[in-house]
Amino acid sequence: MVISFEYGGEAIQIYIFKRNRTSLEIQVETSGNVRVLAPKGVSESQIRKIVWNRADWIIERVKYFQELRRYTNKQFVSGETFYYLGRAYKLKIVSVNSIKKQGNKFSSPDIPIIGLESHQNVSIRNGYLCVVSCDNDSNSIRTTLLNWYWEQTLNQVKQRVRYYQPYIKYRPSGIKVRDQKRLWASCTSKNYLHFNWRCSMAPEAVLDYLVVHEMSHLIHKNHSSQFWKYVGNILPDYKWRRQWLKNHGLKLDF
Ligand SMILES: [Zn+2]
Repeated sequence: MVISFEYGGEAIQIYIFKRNRTSLEIQVETSGNVRVLAPKGVSESQIRKIVWNRADWIIERVKYFQELRRYTNKQFVSGETFYYLGRAYKLKIVSVNSIKKQGNKFSSPDIPIIGLESHQNVSIRNGYLCVVSCDNDSNSIRTTLLNWYWEQTLNQVKQRVRYYQPYIKYRPSGIKVRDQKRLWASCTSKNYLHFNWRCSMAPEAVLDYLVVHEMSHLIHKNHSSQFWKYVGNILPDYKWRRQWLKNHGLKLDF
């Protein structure tokens, strides 16, 4: 069943699902759809009343996800903003045809490329995230960027693991970068550390928190108070780093 209602000039569609449950739950999905899971005995007018009382919160969540889609719905065209280590860069697509070889150096009128290697498809130049493209195809630009972030995440994480290793007595069995939609990072029972390829979009301080969090799981395989004490001994200010990820993490995507 779908009900729609107007609130502050906004039309909101609410999808209602009757379930075997005792309480009513309202979910705003990242798509902006609103789902209400209601106990079977609750009438439509009761649902309307409850939804109306939560309308401020619903609108706030819908707007938040609309805003989020501005960050994550990329067309992979010049001018779009991408994050790398917490800094914003404008994307610049450089046509491969515009690149000229002078001796063993490459240059392009699109950007002042200094000593660009021919195999380097992605680079940060003059505050731009430059992608050299031969066909301007958004899918291939996306793949090129994804591979680049993947490689950057692996390099950054390995470097930070080396940095924090003296503080932690056990070593990870290995470090892998993975495409995990929900988790930022994880530690397996066999002590492999897995990191989401999006990690290198986050500020270094947040990346350090993720590394220390997972390395602390080498000692404590849970989120007990001893675990958090262990994290806090290495990063006394870990709480704001963790909160930053909760507040901004969803924007770090494409
Ligand atoms: Zn954990």
